[in-house]
Amino acid sequence: MLSLKDVSKRYPNGFTAVKNLNLDVKAGEFVALIGPVGSGKSTVLRMIAGLENITSGELRIDGDIMNGVSRKNRNIAIISQKNGLYPRMSVQENIAAPTKALARAAAEAAGVEELLSVRVKSLSLAQKLRVAIAREISKNPGIILFDEPLANLTPGMKERARIDISVLRRGLGATFIYAARDQEEAMALADKLVIMRNGAITASGTPSGLYRDPPSLFVADFIGTPRMNMLEAVVLRKKDDVFLATGNGMLIPVSDESLKKDAGLEVIVGVRPERAGVASVETAPPRFYVHEFEIAAAELFGANAFLRLRLNDDFFSVLGTPSEMPKPGEKVKIAIDTENIYLFNRNTEEAIPYRKM
Ligand code: ADP
Ligand code: MG
Repeated sequence: MLSLKDVSKRYPNGFTAVKNLNLDVKAGEFVALIGPVGSGKSTVLRMIAGLENITSGELRIDGDIMNGVSRKNRNIAIISQKNGLYPRMSVQENIAAPTKALARAAAEAAGVEELLSVRVKSLSLAQKLRVAIAREISKNPGIILFDEPLANLTPGMKERARIDISVLRRGLGATFIYAARDQEEAMALADKLVIMRNGAITASGTPSGLYRDPPSLFVADFIGTPRMNMLEAVVLRKKDDVFLATGNGMLIPVSDESLKKDAGLEVIVGVRPERAGVASVETAPPRFYVHEFEIAAAELFGANAFLRLRLNDDFFSVLGTPSEMPKPGEKVKIAIDTENIYLFNRNTEEAIPYRKM
């Protein structure tokens, strides 16, 4: 078990990059730290690895305080894009394990056993990453930190490397902490997501939990591909019925009684593109709200199509199928699943509890 208690990092120039961070990671768990550039992910990993000292707070591993323990006595590996490999040396020499047997075992675990005699400079980026992983795991670390290891790879190589990491993890049973800007990568790999913003944790939970119930606008915007649509709206009460009146003329009925007290509240309505689609009033189930839009663009991507609908000066995206690709300028009826929309308070940006079936 690794635990950070009220950990802060103030750099010598006076900038506080991490503020009172609390995080527990269980042995064998795979935790992804995600957040935009500058949110403090690398600083957290570097403090755990012992590459940066901790300004205040406590880092414990299995109960022992580690703040003063040197990097080499921590048994923690860190793997980043700057893999630190020697290009002219062979894979075997780079792994540099105390014995050949250990080097081979690590190479096998990382999937580079066939490359042991090859010079690193002739390898692809993805292979270099695997060599860097082999070098680190040959030291038998209890905790492996990844700092955006896939950032330089092409999409195809990323996908492959993601599978490699997932296989490696099952083989090793070590604790993994993985920093990424790319939530897709993190969603695919991690048991738990920790979302960072301005040096602090703004939310944490399972990938599916945060996707289903994002606690704030920031998290909703961050989690899920394609991005959630966000519409400004006002809660409107007409006698016993409650609607969300959007700036562009939608009047979305909401069944939740508790919203009656919020009449007049300015909100953001979130609609995931996968929760809306082309449908007519006749065919949509009753819980769907149907509204007509003009198509701004229709984009194909693989088995899916993305319909970009014009919404005043903004766009609203829905997922469709390639068979229903309308032409730009055409009008289409779009059905929105009202039981799977999200509401956020426009001032606080926090989620408003909304009863979903
Ligand atoms: P991330 O990995 O999420 O992009 P970092 O941990 O690298 O974020 O950086 C967090 C913040 O700390 C950034 O604003 C960055 O500019 C600042 N920072 C990082 N390293 C230093 C340093 N050595 N001195 C001063 N500020 C730093
Ligand atoms: Mg970083």
